[in-house]
Amino acid sequence: MRLGCYAAALGGCSKRMSREHFVSKTVLKRLEQLGGLGITGVPWTPPWPLRSNALTAKVLCISHNEALSALDAEAGLFFTTICDVVDYFRATGNEPRQSRVFSGDLLQRWMLKVLCGSVASNHARDASGNIISPRCPPSSWLRMLYGQQPFPRDTGLHLGMPDGSSVSAEPRVSFETLCGPLVGQIAGAILTLSGPRFVLAMWGGARAGTPTAQDKALYRPKFLRLRHGDLSFQLDIEWQDRGDEKGAEFTWSVEADV
Ligand SMILES: [Zn+2]
Repeated sequence: MRLGCYAAALGGCSKRMSREHFVSKTVLKRLEQLGGLGITGVPWTPPWPLRSNALTAKVLCISHNEALSALDAEAGLFFTTICDVVDYFRATGNEPRQSRVFSGDLLQRWMLKVLCGSVASNHARDASGNIISPRCPPSSWLRMLYGQQPFPRDTGLHLGMPDGSSVSAEPRVSFETLCGPLVGQIAGAILTLSGPRFVLAMWGGARAGTPTAQDKALYRPKFLRLRHGDLSFQLDIEWQDRGDEKGAEFTWSVEADV
């Protein structure tokens, strides 16, 4: 089944559909290179590892796709900076340039874009591993995605917190769709980038009963600090509407880095 442009309800579609990856291919390639790294943090088994070649989908028209290019640019820089830091920790890269402050609002909208794209393109799975039937996002989500209305309080981006225990989790990059209690209800998404887990809660908030129960999640984190021995690197994030006003530190373990 082909949905056409999933943002069609907003009007202004162009005739041709975009062929672009709904996750930037450059970012995906870079994320995949994270393999082979152990971390300390929360172990988690993803149901659906990201594979760059599986994510091509015609889900937006060219006009509605180009209107979101700033989201891809911001997320691309954010995630490749994390990859650069990891390369630096592993002594396979140079010290990253101190990056500018990232826009949490753009990162939040980018995660919603990935969620909408994965659902519309038949890639999203529920907790049982079944494909979620493709559909267009609710019009309120479209307005949030295109910056026409803010995310309601306690919805949006959260950062899952490490529990402090040392684990030799396998390196992974994954994207999981969160389902609500109703059949087929989509509640949000989790993007796991080895240690840090970025949780997009589309209703209820990540601490208010979202199925994966992020007990310790920071709402709209102010920074993400990566540490490896004496080395550390911080990515600062700014928000139009403030959240918890806190950041989180993730430690990459030496022992597991083989
Ligand atoms: Zn369109």
